[in-house]
Amino acid sequence: MDATILIVEDEKNINEVLAFTFQKEGYKTLSAYDGTTGVEMALKEKPSLVLLDINLPGMDGMDACKEIRKTSNVPIIMLTAREDEVDKIVGLELGADDYITKPYSARELSARVKALLRRTEMVADSAAAVEDKNTITSGDVVINIDRYEVKKNGKTVDITLREFELLKFLAIAPDQIFSREVLLENVWGYEYLGDVRTVDVTIRRLREKIEDDPSMPRYIMTKRSIGYYFNKI
Ligand code: CA
Repeated sequence: MDATILIVEDEKNINEVLAFTFQKEGYKTLSAYDGTTGVEMALKEKPSLVLLDINLPGMDGMDACKEIRKTSNVPIIMLTAREDEVDKIVGLELGADDYITKPYSARELSARVKALLRRTEMVADSAAAVEDKNTITSGDVVINIDRYEVKKNGKTVDITLREFELLKFLAIAPDQIFSREVLLENVWGYEYLGDVRTVDVTIRRLREKIEDDPSMPRYIMTKRSIGYYFNKI
């Protein structure tokens, strides 16, 4: 297990017991004893999860949580001494993922940590899978194969099915040059008896939709007297 847990807790013996408990379970641990150092370590060391005590000298746990959340999505579990602090944590929308009230058992805390790490991994895995499997990205153009959707600069492009099929065909094999005849066969179908200029017309319409300057294309390129290719930026 590579997960590293940052423990931000000023009471030295509690910090040590927590570190020992998690090390025994195979985690790596980092310890900080005040809020400012805790924030620094959370951002610099990039731990897998932060255990953050509320009552800390200097910057307290609530401010530390807010500070970390400005730039990081690391999972955070708040450690509170009092039940009424829980209302505060929830009410202030600090961005903590979970909290646990003292006194807590090591087993309970460990179960919360495991659950949160697992949830975080699952979210990351599914996001990566979707990204890899279904989309082709080049510069500010994102082609979502499954959803027949093209986005330019985050905005959905109004695109016809044929334009989409042509773009997809080119983008799946970037830098590979295809003749008009090959594009006509593969995108329009073998039975299509149209003029190869149909391809040129569709290319022109596509460029108007996804290029910044259709007369100076960066994505759908022309290879003079051979055909077209997709440029992956
Ligand atoms: Ca404390």
